[in-house]
Formats: sequence, C-alpha cells, structure tokens
Amino acid sequence: DEDLALLEAGQIGEDGTYFLPALPVLAIVGRPNVGKSQLVNRILGRREAVVQDTPGVTRDRVSYKAEWNDKRFTLVDTGGWEPDAKGINASVAAQAEVAIDLADAVLFVVDVTVGITATDEHVVKMLRGTDRPVIVVANKSDDDRRDLDAYELWNLGLGEPHPVSALHGRGVADLLDLIVKTLPDTSAVAKQEVGGPRRVAILGRPNVGKSSLLNKAAGEERVVVNELSGTTRDPVDEQVELGGRVWRFVDTAGIRKRVHLQQGADFYASLRTTAALEKAEVAVVVLDVTEPISVQDLRIIDLVLESGRALVLAYNKWDLLDDDRRRYLEREIEQDLAHVAWAPRVNISARTGRHLEKLVPALETALDSWDTRIPTGKVNAFIAELVQEHPHPVRGGKQPRILFGTQASSQPPTFVLFTTGFLDPQYRRFITRRLREVWGFAGTPINVNMRVRE
Ligand code: GDP
Repeated sequence: DEDLALLEAGQIGEDGTYFLPALPVLAIVGRPNVGKSQLVNRILGRREAVVQDTPGVTRDRVSYKAEWNDKRFTLVDTGGWEPDAKGINASVAAQAEVAIDLADAVLFVVDVTVGITATDEHVVKMLRGTDRPVIVVANKSDDDRRDLDAYELWNLGLGEPHPVSALHGRGVADLLDLIVKTLPDTSAVAKQEVGGPRRVAILGRPNVGKSSLLNKAAGEERVVVNELSGTTRDPVDEQVELGGRVWRFVDTAGIRKRVHLQQGADFYASLRTTAALEKAEVAVVVLDVTEPISVQDLRIIDLVLESGRALVLAYNKWDLLDDDRRRYLEREIEQDLAHVAWAPRVNISARTGRHLEKLVPALETALDSWDTRIPTGKVNAFIAELVQEHPHPVRGGKQPRILFGTQASSQPPTFVLFTTGFLDPQYRRFITRRLREVWGFAGTPINVNMRVRE
C-alpha cells in the first residue's frame, strides 16, 4: 500500500524502483597545507588531530559521519591524497571534480595568510561551473585583522567568504550553522535505490578489461534505454538485459570516462570505487589473468568486503592464458585470495565473449546469498549442535556460553550472538566457517557479532 502511494505520487518507477533517503554529503576541497585536516577534525568535533596532512601520503578513510545541531551529514575528505609540487594543479582539479560528482555541497578551503594561488585558481574555475552550493572558507583567520584579508576572497565570484581559524576554533560554529543550512535534508547524489533491477558495480584496476566487459555485455544484448517518468535516472548508470533479466550497471560513466592522472590516481580510483559500491548490491571485481594479483587488486576486494556488498570474481583475458601462467594462477588464487574463497569465480574473455554467459548465474548466486535470512529457530539449532560438538575452550577457569543467536539482518547476512563472555577470535572464525559449511553463503560476506551479557 505504501508502494502504491509512492507510485501514485510519481516517486516510484514502473519497474518498482524507489529511493531510500541518505545523509547529505559535504565534500571538502583545497590545495595541500591550507588546513583541511584541521578543519575536518573541528567539524567532527575531535580534540586531537586524527587526520594529519602528510604530503604524498594517502589516508585510508575518506568519509566521516558528522553532526551539528541534530542534523547529520557525511563529510568526504577529497584531500586525502596530497600531491607533491609536480602535477599539483591537475590533481587538485581532479579532487574538485570528484567532490562535485559525489557531494551535495562543497567546502572550498583557502589559506587567508597566503591568498589565492595559481593552484586555487584551477579549483575555482571548476567550482564556478557547478550548480552545487559552494562555501568558501578563509582558513587561518586567527584574528580580526585577518578577517579583512578574508573579504578579498569575494573576488573569487563564489559568494561570501567565511573567516575561520580551524586551529583555534574561531568561526567554526558559525560555519557549521551555515553548512547544515546549506545541505539538503537528504542527499540528491548518495540516495540509495530500492527495488527495480539489481545493481552491479564493475570494479578493477585500470586495463583489466572493465570497459571491454561492459561493451561486450551491452553490445551483444539489448541496452535498455527507458526513461521512467517520475524517477530521476542517474545518467552515470546503464541498464542491460542479460540472461533474460535487466541489470543496472552503476557508475559506468566512471568506467567509460578514462581519467589518466600521473599522481594520486589510486586515491581517486578508491573514491570512485567506494561511491560505486555504495550504490551497488553486488560487485564484479575484474582481474587480469595475464598479470600477478597486485596490491591494488587486493585493495579493491577489501573495499568490497568493507562495504558488505556481494562479490563475484571475474578472471578476464582467459584467451591469453598459457599453461605456465595457468599453474601460477591457481597457486596465486589459493594464497592471495583465500579470504574470499567463497566468492563465485568466472573465467571469461571480454574480447572473445568466452563464458560471459556464466556471469549471470554467478551474480544470481551471490545476490541470493546476500539476501538470505535464516530463521532464528534454525540459527539456535545450529548453535546448539556446534557447541555440543566443539565447546568454547575454558579461559581462566571460565567458559563463555552462547545463550542465544539470531540473524539480525541480511544484505549481507549479519548474525548476533548473545554470550556470557567474550568469545575467542579463533572460535568466532570457527563459527563463521561452520555457518558457511551449513548454509553456503557463496558470494556474500557474513558478519558474526557478539553481545556480552553480564
Ligand atoms: P579497463 O581499463 O579495465 O576498462 O580495461 P579495457 O576494457 O580498456 O581493456 C584494457 C585492454 O585490454 C584493452 O586493450 C582491451 O582490448 C584488452 N582486453 C580486455 N579484455 C580482454 C580479453 O579478454 N582478452 C584480451 N586479449 N584482451 C583484452
């Protein structure tokens, strides 16, 4: 009935798609050393600098949950990667581009003691061309005198500059008031789609064959172009009919748009990967069988695991595989990908089209597992049997007991165990292993959480 109301209100597509509201996103941009990190810490309300500026170093976290006056938002720190002097203009501009793509509003930070530099100008040019609200922050305005310098920034043509001292906290409360006023109640970019075609992210490092795979899939099958009334279609997604059903490939614009940056490419790729994962339900991580599994491949797989999305591994360029390499490949998979041994594997060639049809059953398996709900009765029967066979070892004269267990959520399956004490990490891994032995869960990460009851 609720669905019907949405349908009538034009907020739900004929294919059953609608959007779940997501927190608005604020992106922070600026060249290195303007004090972005300090400002991030201020906005997050932390005393100590958890975020530090280290030139040339990539910060792992880029997205934080922030709150001011009961309004919550997501803060994306696109300055997580600080370039050295060479190629700085290009990378700061790329930073701004990503920020504009991913955020509802942009915080542009300038160092008022230095004024506008040539690097800032690159960002300003991009920000002038966007319809996203931009807030100009004149940082390092430590006293009234600096406020006068801040007013010079009116010249940027980006509206009123806001003097702030991230170091001393001066002006930060006013800035936060403005931020929560500027941000929409729910995000227009990070909204989460529900229902409709299942959403797939094709991921992988450059040149593994992502766009070839997409083209082959879209080329041989029908590309579904249906603009549905009432729903805002994200132009960066493409719908393709494969194996008799329609799939939505998310952020295909990111795959087709080939940005080749000298520096910081990994960092921006991570940002895009994270954003694509947020929209997707299942990820196809494409690996190139002609090359050894790299740190970058593993990092992408880690991002999928962190996101809790379902996972399919596609080994591409199978047409180039010779017997020598094939032997190495098997060993590599066993060693480097043991932690995702549960993910369905398809051996394909995007060039020849070999075994491309196997992708659909792999996606279906992964999504079925991801959606699985085990009734509480079965979970507890499982626990009873497991504990009887293999009780938790006694620690310091005590033996933690599992009182009760339940699957708290699906997508991915997440179990909660109520216990009388902390379970050993090994024992928790054992439980996870047994859950997979009993129910399979091929293609989905699973979580096992504990609640200790005194
Ligand atoms: P992307 O950067 O991941 O999107 O990679 P591309 O799809 O652009 O592919 C990179 C290169 O690998 C191109 O020259 C493709 O023609 C080639 N390629 C992609 N898939 C295959 C494949 O299955 N077999 C062979 N031999 N080459 C491939």
